[in-house]
Amino acid sequence: MTQTHIVPGGPGEPGSLWLDGGTLADGTGRDPVRNPGILTAAGRITRIGGARPADAEVVDCSGLTLTPGLIDAHVHMACAPFDPSLRYDVSVAEMAADMFLNCEQTVAGGFTTVRDTGGIDRGLADVIASGKMPGPRILQCGPVHSQTGGGGQMGAEWEPSHLWDQHAIPGLVAWALLSDGPDELRKNVREGFRRGATFVKLLVTGAVVAISTQQPSDTQFTVAEIAVAVEEANAKGTYVTVHAHNNRGIRAAVTAGVRCVEHGSQIDEETAALMSEHDVALVPTLSIMERLVADPAAMGLAPSYATRLSRFAQTARDALLTARAAGVRVGLGSDLLGPDQRDRGRELVHRAKLESPMRALESATRINAGILGVGDDLGTIEAGKIADIAGFAGDPLSEPEVFADRDRVALVVQGGRVVRHVAS
Ligand SMILES: [Zn+2]
Repeated sequence: MTQTHIVPGGPGEPGSLWLDGGTLADGTGRDPVRNPGILTAAGRITRIGGARPADAEVVDCSGLTLTPGLIDAHVHMACAPFDPSLRYDVSVAEMAADMFLNCEQTVAGGFTTVRDTGGIDRGLADVIASGKMPGPRILQCGPVHSQTGGGGQMGAEWEPSHLWDQHAIPGLVAWALLSDGPDELRKNVREGFRRGATFVKLLVTGAVVAISTQQPSDTQFTVAEIAVAVEEANAKGTYVTVHAHNNRGIRAAVTAGVRCVEHGSQIDEETAALMSEHDVALVPTLSIMERLVADPAAMGLAPSYATRLSRFAQTARDALLTARAAGVRVGLGSDLLGPDQRDRGRELVHRAKLESPMRALESATRINAGILGVGDDLGTIEAGKIADIAGFAGDPLSEPEVFADRDRVALVVQGGRVVRHVAS
């Protein structure tokens, strides 16, 4: 995987911190260590253990479990509220307010980095990186790429596709660029890069939530089309990830050279073996399925979506375990949509129940960092890494519900700055 270089954000250089006490679960999968002592300087972790230095600001971490800042590898900060009919009944100002609230709540929940898989423009990432507004570090693909009538196309089935382009408030409404044929896709992938994308996302199978004339069982884009996107991504030193549910679509994408599969809710053993052979990662997204099944109306969707989604909720769990058994790197993503994205930590709870709390933590930290191409800087608490650290009151490794309880996210350090500290 290509390494994306990132620098700690915010104005000025952060001072030195000494995180005193607590239990360290460092994201490597090693057994937790008690009372380690973590020193940071200029935004990076400089030492673990040793004596408390005289000149660092001391942060009392007693009673906390310290983990790497969590990473959500599949978010949509700007689908707020999510409405596949795109009726234009929400103003841009309201959408922006929801978006910034989502950002603030995300970092307050211990997530210091996210990968936005469609719907924002680079402006949001820049605003957060500048320190103007609180939020997670954001890697983003800008617009997603879909074929005409594909999973990225929303609005009404009777709306002529050429009018889709008029849903054009880049980053807030026009979340997909439609392409048909390698040349058109190449142009649109380049357009995404021109707008500041740091990776590429294609929809290569139908989506659960999109125009009703497409189905999750459809394959979308040809191998030749996908290969062109891969070629363009490689030219920019980055990678292609794909939205995909069914096996035919996933195999086509793996054959064409993509590096990651989102959702992957129907992966069978043959597909899992192919992904493993090509080192293609999987980012399962369990939270969104649970939420949509439980209350489609709250997410702005028609009740009919519940039936469609309940099928995917179970197969997604089976697919995850099948991929894991084949040796696929399995990341973690919530795919939350809409204005209320406070429950991002719930994804770790789902994963802890399915596998183990430690596995969930590793997926949300070290493995996700590798998938995002930022593993040299993020994902573990080790000397040299950027100082992104979350502190949970209690022990989420024995009580995973703690990951989803924002009242127990007592400490968030981002780029060596304390951005949340709730004294006990
Ligand atoms: Zn998504």
